[in-house]
Amino acid sequence: MAETIFSRIIRKEVPAQIVYEDERVVAFRDIHPQAPVHILIVPREPIATVNDLRPEHAELVGHMVLVARELAHREGVADRGYRLVLNCNPEGGQSVYHLHLHLLGGRPMGWPPG
Ligand code: AMP
Repeated sequence: MAETIFSRIIRKEVPAQIVYEDERVVAFRDIHPQAPVHILIVPREPIATVNDLRPEHAELVGHMVLVARELAHREGVADRGYRLVLNCNPEGGQSVYHLHLHLLGGRPMGWPPG
């Protein structure tokens, strides 16, 4: 797959507000936040979309969700509530083709999404 800006952020070639990192994921603040808390949890492995996930990625995806849970606590939105989003392909609203989990919080979220 073609490399995206997220690989360059992970390698720290492009600046970002990194709030968490470990051996499997890097999390940083979205450059165009859609809520007071808007963090992207990104695997170091450059998987393009949810469609490219395989059974061997199950632990990685679970880890992404657990990191989001931890960051929601740290950011003070866990009890109020928050939303986790994985956009896939054009109709899902995906614009960067390197898998990422959005953590959105700090304001009420509408449903259904637009
Ligand atoms: P998606 O539309 O689900 O692919 O989400 C991609 C997200 O990446 C958008 O919310 C963008 O605002 C965000 N984004 C794009 N470039 C950067 C960047 N350099 N640093 C932080 N967030 C970015």
